[in-house]
Amino acid sequence: MEPSITHKDIMAMRIIGILGPAQLELFMKQSELLNPTGKTKGFDNNEIYSSTSYLPIYHLISHNSKDPQETLTQVLKSLLFTRLLKESTDFFQQGTNQDLEDFVASLIFKHISNIKYNAISITHLKRTAAGTELSLAYATALYPLLSLCNHSCDPNAVPVKKFKHLETSLVTLKTLKAGDELFITYKPLFTHMKTSERQEHLRINYQFACACPPCLNNWSIKSIKQSDYSVEKGAGNTAQVKELSKYETLLHESDDEIKRGNYLKAIKILKPCLQHFTQKLNNQDEMNYFPSLNSLTQVSFELYKRALLRIIYKAQDFHSLYL
Ligand SMILES: [Zn+2]
Repeated sequence: MEPSITHKDIMAMRIIGILGPAQLELFMKQSELLNPTGKTKGFDNNEIYSSTSYLPIYHLISHNSKDPQETLTQVLKSLLFTRLLKESTDFFQQGTNQDLEDFVASLIFKHISNIKYNAISITHLKRTAAGTELSLAYATALYPLLSLCNHSCDPNAVPVKKFKHLETSLVTLKTLKAGDELFITYKPLFTHMKTSERQEHLRINYQFACACPPCLNNWSIKSIKQSDYSVEKGAGNTAQVKELSKYETLLHESDDEIKRGNYLKAIKILKPCLQHFTQKLNNQDEMNYFPSLNSLTQVSFELYKRALLRIIYKAQDFHSLYL
């Protein structure tokens, strides 16, 4: 494999550059800051997890590479970057001791290996000539808090960059109860990839076996396609079937509104659907009796996500909804 410098490697250098030599020297002398004894990682000596401090970034999770070649490449990159800082910038003042250079190299190495597991992609939507929308990544960033979010192939939150601020917020995609864990996606979504493809992607890139509901229950991509989310006509002309048909019609209507670009209208139509399906989720008997209830529930969440994301990327609508 030909080693190459990636934008994530450059991020490792930027972190060191932002901290600056004076701050780094302080960290080096007070090694207790980076390796607190008996404290929770990322928390300072006062047990505070400060998102403006370097400590949470330093302690973000990393995995040792199983490939010795990759580890060697990361070590060489760290040494090369430290050399570049020394010879091409005034980062190291004259007389700086070798300890600080070694410390900087060790931090760059640490970040080169932890950035890939923690960086969050910031994307924006671009409309193509054909009228469809593409989600394009335009930046990658490390966040002390957001980077702690675990993955789900059916996430309940999405990171959103605010246009006029240097802030990224988590916007929830579902109704949550107090204490519910927030999940984002590390890219694989059950609506876009098969379970086996998602599992492989997460295992290779993030070194874990995903145990989210879509992976455990092998949710089908097909189940969210419009033509497939029909109510069981053969289940009898019961009140439940009529009720389901009503919500199915609403889902079709909101789907149409999204296609027309009326995202707020789509959300208004979806809200009662979401409320209805969220209640049904607690009734396992009914869920089992009407298999399409599962699909309709997934579709309503999916449509809501779609409408919400479109709004988020239309600044005007975004302001009217959230500000
Ligand atoms: Zn999963």
